[in-house]
Amino acid sequence: MLIIFGVGHKTYNNRSFRDATYCFHCHNTSRWLLSKITTWFSLFFIPVIPVKTAYGELCPICKQGKKLSRVEYESKVNQTD
Ligand SMILES: [Zn+2]
Repeated sequence: MLIIFGVGHKTYNNRSFRDATYCFHCHNTSRWLLSKITTWFSLFFIPVIPVKTAYGELCPICKQGKKLSRVEYESKVNQTD
C-alpha cells in the first residue's frame, strides 16, 4: 500500500480587529488582522494532525506585522469581530 504523507499544509484563520491600527510600514490606518496559522501533518493530502501553530497580527495592506505568543493572541481575540 502506498502511503502519502507530508508536513507543510497550512491553514489561516484571520480575524479583523474592531479598531483601526496605524501601520508604520505602509502608513495606512486600517483594521489589522489577527492571524492564526496552523501547519498540518497530512495523510493522503488530508490534513490530520496540527503540528505547529503560529500567531501574529498583521497589516492587511502590506502584510507586515509581528508574531504573537499564544497568550498574546488569546488576549487579543476579544478585540476582534
Ligand atoms: Zn501596512
